[in-house]
Amino acid sequence: MNLEKYRQAIHNKVCLHCITLGENGRCTLTGVDRCGVELYLEEIVRVVHSINSPRLEDYVEALRKHVCSKCQNQNPNGTCSLRNQAECGLDRYFALAVEAIEEVDQKKKKKF
Ligand code: SF4
Ligand code: SF4
Repeated sequence: MNLEKYRQAIHNKVCLHCITLGENGRCTLTGVDRCGVELYLEEIVRVVHSINSPRLEDYVEALRKHVCSKCQNQNPNGTCSLRNQAECGLDRYFALAVEAIEEVDQKKKKKF
């Protein structure tokens, strides 16, 4: 899957408004602290493509099932301390990420 358009759209819609973006335009979270937006981009796009619903909860449920379940920060009981403290950029801005991905898809459809 070509992720470049999605990466750019999410950068513009999410990262540019995120408190964690550095002045050089790159995320300041690196190494083991890297944000799920960067780590799981392909999975996030797949999750969004697998759901067609007006309810954000349906997308969140799929995110938990397909992304959070594989994330090293999630505990075996399904809790996540980063999520609980609103410190996961992916979780915090997930609604905007969904919008960004769906906007890319709509633009693609208009071209055909
Ligand atoms: S923390 Fe996540 S959402 Fe925020 S700038 Fe970094 S990659 Fe983007
Ligand atoms: S909410 Fe927690 S488990 Fe889910 S991606 Fe973010 S850090 Fe990982």
